[in-house]
Amino acid sequence: MSFTLAIVGRPNVGKSTLFNRLVGKRLALVDDQPGVTRDLREGDARLGHLRFTVIDTAGLEEATDESLQGRMRKLTERAVDMADICLFVVDARAGLTASDHFFADILRKRSAHVILAANKAEGRAGEDGLIEAYELGLGEPLRLSAEHGEGMSELAAVLDPIAESF
Ligand code: GDP
Ligand code: MG
Repeated sequence: MSFTLAIVGRPNVGKSTLFNRLVGKRLALVDDQPGVTRDLREGDARLGHLRFTVIDTAGLEEATDESLQGRMRKLTERAVDMADICLFVVDARAGLTASDHFFADILRKRSAHVILAANKAEGRAGEDGLIEAYELGLGEPLRLSAEHGEGMSELAAVLDPIAESF
């Protein structure tokens, strides 16, 4: 029973921070894996008793000639297609942006198994953003702080029944 979780969302919401927390030092040697480029980092994640593969969508921060939206779409679609479950991360401190709605649309159209997470929700600063995240229509947002390690057991509790089906 193993599954692949893709962490998706616009730049700067904390995807890589969460990836690093889940993977620790167990980063896969991506060079050996066909189909995985530097834009998609893959690692072996541990969360409670769960073991799974996690994908971080990176590389969107780099400037190229291609539009950011075009790259976001392509990269996200590739990650979604590789994954069994998507963890869609928004920034609870910043509130929702047009990019967040753009991602929500991609995920809905791909009819992926989506878990919504409002990150940076430590303390009170994320409370409004957490409530706002309901507007995405992707269910109840999980309250996370990747940086402070909050919400990890709640994430495990959400993944657990889904993992059973793989
Ligand atoms: P990514 O672009 O989505 O991969 O985001 P990063 O993981 O690179 O994080 C972007 C910024 O948000 C960094 O400065 C992180 O330190 C910060 N960050 C990540 N997670 C949290 C969190 O839980 N709380 C707060 N306050 N900041 C965070
Ligand atoms: Mg990143």
